[in-house]
Amino acid sequence: MHYDYILIRYGELALKGKNQKEFLQKLNRNIKEHVKADVGENPRIEREQGRLLLYLDGAEPSKYYNALNHVFGISSYSPVLRTSLKMEDILEGALSEFKQAMGERKEVTFRITARRANKLFPLSSMDLATEVAQYVSDHIEGLTVDLKHADIDLKVEIRDEFAYITTQKFPGLGGLPLGSGGKGMLLLSGGIDSPVAGWSMMRRGMTVEAIHFHSYPYTSEMAKEKVLTLAEKMACYSGRLVVHLVPFTKIQEEIGHYCHDNMRITIMRRIMLRIAEKIAQNREALAIITGDNLGQVASQTPESIYAINQVTNMPIFRPLIAFDKEEIMAVAKKIDTYETSILPYEDCCTVFVPKEPKTKPKVDACQLEEAKIENLAELIEQAVANSEMVVKYGKVIEKRVQGEVK
Ligand code: ATP
Ligand code: MG
Repeated sequence: MHYDYILIRYGELALKGKNQKEFLQKLNRNIKEHVKADVGENPRIEREQGRLLLYLDGAEPSKYYNALNHVFGISSYSPVLRTSLKMEDILEGALSEFKQAMGERKEVTFRITARRANKLFPLSSMDLATEVAQYVSDHIEGLTVDLKHADIDLKVEIRDEFAYITTQKFPGLGGLPLGSGGKGMLLLSGGIDSPVAGWSMMRRGMTVEAIHFHSYPYTSEMAKEKVLTLAEKMACYSGRLVVHLVPFTKIQEEIGHYCHDNMRITIMRRIMLRIAEKIAQNREALAIITGDNLGQVASQTPESIYAINQVTNMPIFRPLIAFDKEEIMAVAKKIDTYETSILPYEDCCTVFVPKEPKTKPKVDACQLEEAKIENLAELIEQAVANSEMVVKYGKVIEKRVQGEVK
């Protein structure tokens, strides 16, 4: 095949300092795992001054794109030709790549961009670009230089031992390699926001586990399945996702019975957080993640968030707090959770939703309402003890896991 490698770039800024080695090991391992899951192969990955190189061994590069599009920490990637640093090899490589990019087209505009990371190379970047442009124009008809809007932008990069040549560049997910940022517990409802919140923290390198509160029989089996489908979609990025299913019926009934109508949502959230904190401690997580978004509903005003936040000292990450709904929806569509999130099954909040929830609940009022529930501490312990743990795998990975069991 035409290309030798896929050159993988990662955000260099994040790599300063002594974490670099660990960071790269994680990125390397995550790429391998995704490729293994997606195409069933163990790829060879080489390191090269601030980049990784996935060896193609004769394969089409596009075979690996789906896997790479699911790995956090990749800023961009390109299929590349690799040549020696001899001028004739570079020129031949550039010509071959140019022809490949041109395909059947008769006329194209182009530019050549040269970069010289290896300062021992005898030509300056400018001179190299000029020579390559000359060579390519001498061998192909119908070319016009256009530095601003070129149809083909051919890049030549001179490194210590080799030159890399490409005309393509695809954006990666960005962020940091999964597993480099501790563990967080995501409160996962069936809505649009919480899967996006969890994904956003994964993208910053955080290992995420999910907690879902269900109120069977007030909420259906379908509502639970919907959340597990969302978990599976998120696991396409993380490989696997542990989901804790917490029975919440008894507590909701108690809230419904004893607590004032307009305080129910606030109380419910405070109790959810207490339970989440305990599960987080059991699972050695350092933070709780929610899909809260300022002003979206009554429980997401600053006053509500303040009152809800009082029950825990654990950091609560709310990555979507300042997003607009359209922005959240755009991410949900991109990560393929949107269609599942808009399925109509009730979650436990919609079932018990009061007509006029308080938008400015007071902390002492919350405490008074909660005091009306007998044995609240015990009910919380029971919910934790009776929670069920399910592991979901991303679609392609699930197939492999099942295959291995046989
Ligand atoms: P989402 O789209 O994430 O459901 P939402 O707009 O419906 O959010 P709320 O229902 O007010 O907002 O929930 C706010 C946050 O509380 C959610 O983003 C989620 O993190 C958490 N949450 C709500 N309901 C549940 C639940 N049943 N189980 C777990 N977490 C929940
Ligand atoms: Mg919701």
